[in-house]
Amino acid sequence: MSRVALVTGGMGGLGEAICIKLAALGYKVVTTYSPGNKTWKEWLDSMNKMGFGFRAYPCDVANFDSAKACVEQIAKEVGPVDVLVNNAGITRDMTFKKMDKVNWDAVMSTNLDSTFNMTKQVCDGMLDRGWGRIINISSVNGQKGAFGQTNYSAAKAGMHGFTKALALEVARKGVTVNTISPGYIGTKMVMAIPSDVLDSKIIPQIPMGRLGKPEEVAGLVAYLSSDEAAFLTGANIAINGGQHMH
Ligand code: NDP
Repeated sequence: MSRVALVTGGMGGLGEAICIKLAALGYKVVTTYSPGNKTWKEWLDSMNKMGFGFRAYPCDVANFDSAKACVEQIAKEVGPVDVLVNNAGITRDMTFKKMDKVNWDAVMSTNLDSTFNMTKQVCDGMLDRGWGRIINISSVNGQKGAFGQTNYSAAKAGMHGFTKALALEVARKGVTVNTISPGYIGTKMVMAIPSDVLDSKIIPQIPMGRLGKPEEVAGLVAYLSSDEAAFLTGANIAINGGQHMH
């Protein structure tokens, strides 16, 4: 029987590539869309016309009760989740001087609380079944910090603290927990940066001289989801074109 993979924020730039890759490998792929998303049905229909067979459920990952209701519905209609990719995330960039509580809280709850909210719904089942993969999509900016991102860098660094602690707790039960820290990937989130800033400030920081491709991150997710990756846990894997090495 094929395994069920739940990718939060699967309709975004990275998430879509992850969904496509996992579907190609035979996973039953389920994704979420946020309650305000008006185009989810069009996305789902267009993907399924291409034969992917995705399912999509509403979920505000920042809200524990919403996450619970979403995963309960998935368990009923598709089956228990074997692979969870905590990918949904937002940025609200501003210098610390301008950072207000609203933008701090929004980024912490969507990027970090969401990791708890979603993982909490699936982890016990993975332990009971003796197999599971939890993959947290963090960021290079959680590893090195970034100007204007005290909220985002804190949330993304926090995700990896969560990864390491949970990885210890579940290591003997067939469940692995890992973090992926992408550098700049050519998705809408990054293409929204003005092109002169991309060309003059961002690309020059990347030794490979280009943005990453969503498919490159998806390939790493596929590996971490696989049986072959059973000995890999608690890691923070950088995929950033050489931008940050540690
Ligand atoms: P996108 O903005 O394209 O996608 C983000 C996704 O998150 C959307 O599908 C969105 O869903 C979902 N989302 C946002 N808020 C919520 C919420 N409250 N509840 C449920 N879903 C929500 O971003 P990317 O694909 O570029 O980024 C994906 C992940 O990768 C993020 O965590 C990001 O921080 C991280 N990342 C991205 C990098 C890049 O270069 N692009 C670099 C490093 C890390 P909806 O559309 O339904 O609102």
